[in-house]
Amino acid sequence: MKVLVVNCGSSSLKYELFESDTGQSLASGLASRVGVNGGEEALLEQKRAGDEEKFTVQAPMPDHKVALGYVLAALTDPEEGVLGSLDEIQAIGHRVVHGGEAFSQSVLIDAVVEAAIERFCEIAPLHNPANLLGIRACRDRLPHAPMVAVFDTAFHQTLPPVAYIYGIPYELYEERKIRRYGFHGTSHRYVAGKAAEMLDKRGLAPEQQRIITCHLGNGCSITAIQGGKSVQTSMGFTPLAGLLMGTRCGDLDPALVPYLINHLGMDPEEIDDLLNKRSGLLGVSGVSSDMRDIHQAISEGNARAKLALDIFSYRLRRYIGAYATVLGGVDAVVFTAGIGENDALVREQSTRDLEFLGLYLDQTRNNDPSLRGQPADISKFDSPSRILVIPTDEELLIATDTAEIVGKSG
Ligand code: AMP
Repeated sequence: MKVLVVNCGSSSLKYELFESDTGQSLASGLASRVGVNGGEEALLEQKRAGDEEKFTVQAPMPDHKVALGYVLAALTDPEEGVLGSLDEIQAIGHRVVHGGEAFSQSVLIDAVVEAAIERFCEIAPLHNPANLLGIRACRDRLPHAPMVAVFDTAFHQTLPPVAYIYGIPYELYEERKIRRYGFHGTSHRYVAGKAAEMLDKRGLAPEQQRIITCHLGNGCSITAIQGGKSVQTSMGFTPLAGLLMGTRCGDLDPALVPYLINHLGMDPEEIDDLLNKRSGLLGVSGVSSDMRDIHQAISEGNARAKLALDIFSYRLRRYIGAYATVLGGVDAVVFTAGIGENDALVREQSTRDLEFLGLYLDQTRNNDPSLRGQPADISKFDSPSRILVIPTDEELLIATDTAEIVGKSG
């Protein structure tokens, strides 16, 4: 079954076309600057599997519907495309950020599901509205294709109340659903599944496995997984909580917010901007939100860049220790996403002196570039617990879920 995976941001439309039976990606692409300044500077870039060169289209894209039109034209382009006709697209999988408490797994999109996604716009104002634009644009342009929603929050719906209830008046949970939700669920689920296969091969049954997954990209989160179920995760009501990130602060004393209001005269939008866009690696280093730039600055002797990296690793290490306690021990720590998959120093610093948890890093394997791009075990041969690097593939999991659900419903 050919499945189109769509991930809409407020000014972007990311997509990937899969042959779901084989898990083979056929083409992927990104329409960017959609709707920005009327969409005049929008750009579409598409890459077919195996091609070196990108196919690019520069055209005005005032909204997601127009952008999707260009995406579909690129996919069926006689020279650069991969499809003879749009009828070949048999299903569409949408990444949806917030599913609240309503969805613990992926679902076929109908009017009820769509209304729920709309309801959660209140708690995910940056993401769910864009996801809805994608859903509506696809329905308009590809009315024949059933659509599935795959939620970032769904995997974490197995958290127990002790992990998701905040220490504030309980009525705020009952009446306003204020609680920890957690995000990046599709990535944590994907890499945990791969890690479970690796541990299973070593003789540890899936139901006994205690896995800690570290998704370290521009956004960062860590999850404790017991027998395949998420039991604790670092992001909260929004994706601002937990680890230090590219531009987000992570954990903070909440009393800082009224202090910023009362003593620095900041309003809610300024505080939101400060904590979400001007903090994290960028805020501490003053250099960049990009970890590669941080390394470059450190090599040039920049002390604040070093501090930013050290805080990043320190907080991660602190969370690994805490989550090993939550799980009563740990069988594997998994690193994934841009930083997790590529940054040997972060992996080394965040697992340093954790031998008491059974975690022994093999420095040679940790630094071996030939192990990149594939699942790799970077712990010492006789390490009781494993340290793994597993490339994430959220799009593939969305395609697999979509094909399974559409297959069953048909
Ligand atoms: P993602 O959100 O998964 O695309 O990850 C983005 C983050 O990964 C950015 O902070 C990048 O700097 C970081 N990253 C990508 N490649 C490398 C690398 N080779 N070494 C260190 N960090 C990297």
